Amino acid sequence: MMLQQTQVPRVVPRWRRFLDRFPTVAACALAPAAEVIDEWSGLGYNRRAVHLHRLAISVVDDHEGRFPDTLADLLALPGIGPYTARAVRVFAFERPDGVLDTNVARILARTSARSLAPREAQRLADDNVGDDPWAWNQAMLDVGARFCVAGTPNCDGCPLRVVCGWAGAGRPDPDPALGSAAVSGRQSRFEGSDRQGRGRLVKALAAGPVGDAELAAAMGWPDDADRARRVAATVVADGLAVSTGEGLALPGQATDEPR
Ligand code: SF4
Repeated sequence: MMLQQTQVPRVVPRWRRFLDRFPTVAACALAPAAEVIDEWSGLGYNRRAVHLHRLAISVVDDHEGRFPDTLADLLALPGIGPYTARAVRVFAFERPDGVLDTNVARILARTSARSLAPREAQRLADDNVGDDPWAWNQAMLDVGARFCVAGTPNCDGCPLRVVCGWAGAGRPDPDPALGSAAVSGRQSRFEGSDRQGRGRLVKALAAGPVGDAELAAAMGWPDDADRARRVAATVVADGLAVSTGEGLALPGQATDEPR
């Protein structure tokens, strides 16, 4: 879940720290949501922390503390979409799925020499895993990182060069990966965004409740109380904060909040 929208080098140290603090699903489920959000703070997209906490509670309450391995059961967990469900199935349970992340989707579009619709891309990935899905998915991630990169691909030496339709045709414009299913575009600018204000607010809340009058300053918009109120409302709606009557607090931080 950390890798859903954050790059590997940023995730690794935080993932280790997270596991030190919550070494088991049960430990995460038993912790107040405020602690999980606090540990997540700085990774971005803090909603994922709320989902992860709810997921841990669901795994403990509904699955006797063990992750389910069917696609349907995994997709029913909070914060788990098709990508994460298949990643868990493949890398934890070695089930025969194709994990369609942005790198794999780019390779499939380029080797097919055309943009792919979502179902088509997923079916192509699932159909190609062969009898060692774990290794196939790892290999695809490596090819995406080392050869079939987002900008100019490094086709010389790429192990898929002989079967690649786009490279075989001389890489004509446009790049079939552009606009193909599951291939992400550029992330919107963070500086000055609502996302930045949300991150600042969660960080401030980790230190303690924030009063209504302090919200705008805490979010970095001291002269724009309207924007602060509007964005703070989305933080509450996402379950990242609760109203104390005088301001906001992390869920579970306020004295008698249930987990
Ligand atoms: S040959 Fe080039 S375009 Fe085709 S998969 Fe390899 S790196 Fe990507």
